[in-house]
This record gives sequence, C-alpha cells and structure tokens, in this order.
Amino acid sequence: MSKRTTVTLQDAYLAAQRAAASAAQADPAVTAYAELVRGQLTLMGEDPDREGLLRTPERVAKSMAFLTRGYTMSLADVVGDAQFEEEHENMVMVRDIELYSMCEHHMLPFFGKAHIAYIPNGRIVGLSKLPRIVEMFARRLQVQERLTEQVAEAIDEILAPRGVGVVIEAFHMCMMMRGVEKQNSRTITSALRGQFRDCPMTRGEFLGLAHRG
Ligand SMILES: [Zn+2]
Repeated sequence: MSKRTTVTLQDAYLAAQRAAASAAQADPAVTAYAELVRGQLTLMGEDPDREGLLRTPERVAKSMAFLTRGYTMSLADVVGDAQFEEEHENMVMVRDIELYSMCEHHMLPFFGKAHIAYIPNGRIVGLSKLPRIVEMFARRLQVQERLTEQVAEAIDEILAPRGVGVVIEAFHMCMMMRGVEKQNSRTITSALRGQFRDCPMTRGEFLGLAHRG
C-alpha cells in the first residue's frame, strides 16, 4: 500500500474532534463542575466511585456546558451578515421552531416550539437565523416569559421591523415530574411589538397562524 499523503475532509474532521475533546478535558471549568457533581452524588446517598458513576461527573459537566452554551453566543455572531434589503411588506413567519431550555428555578428542562413572525421595514433576515436566535437565548437558564421577550427584542434590534410577534408553547419538566405533576399542561407565552401589538387584524392573523395545528 502506498503511503497516503492527501489529507481528506474526514481526517480534518477527526482531528478537529480530537482537539475539541482534549480541550474540553483540560478545561478547568469542566473539572470544577465535575467536582461539584461528585459532591451532589454523595449528598444523594450515591457512591460516586461505583463503576456506573465513575465518568458521570465529567459527562454531566460537558452536557451542562452544551446546554448552557447560549451564554457564549452573541446576536452579532448568530446573525452575521445574513440581512438583505427587501421591499417585501407582508408578514414573514417561521412556525414550529423546536426549542430546548432549562428553567432557572429548578434547572430542569422545558421544551416546546416557538413561532416567530415579523413585518419587514425594508430589510429581511435569512430564515435560518430565526431558529438560531431562539437557540442562543434558549440555551441558558431561563423563564419562558423572558425567553419570549428576548427573542422579540433581538429581532426588533437587528431588523427594526414594522412589527414582530413571538409565541412560545412549552412543557415544563418541573411541573410534569414534580410539584403539581401535570403532564399535559402547556405554558403559552407571547411577545407582540409594533403592528402585532397595535393592529388587531395583524395580531389576529398572527395568533391564528401560531395557534393552528
Ligand atoms: Zn421550574
């Protein structure tokens, strides 16, 4: 077999994976968090040294870093230059954006869907950016009300549209697994700005579309 000299995309991918893995391992924040998780396990009455739990603290630390990565993201990074001049004056809507977040009261997940619409005022944003804006704010400790407002605020900030509407419907594990143990109650929040707040027809059209299905 001849010696391979070409570096393939797969090689580059694997090298990046290895670099990421060793960087995460060396990260003092991961180590410190893992130490806390060990303490948690002990307080639960568990033995953090039993085989099944040996690598759990490190896994939890890395998982938590992923679940809260929104803290490291900025609106400028997320949106980049994906803004375009456009004279479109009707509602632009993206429905059913999956979201996963964690409530700041119990640090338990809440998950559901976001529906976002805006009416452009000379500028539009790449459609794929709307889910990324949701992601940026959802991947932090949150309350659903604030998350909804922050998404609306961000779209207002980057586009200065004629109006923006955000509806989030979510199931909260802190209600489903504990507390009232209500498995089927959905929490619905909305944030309406500009024409979505001031014009009953626009508001009605948006809320009708958001709540359909
Ligand atoms: Zn909660």
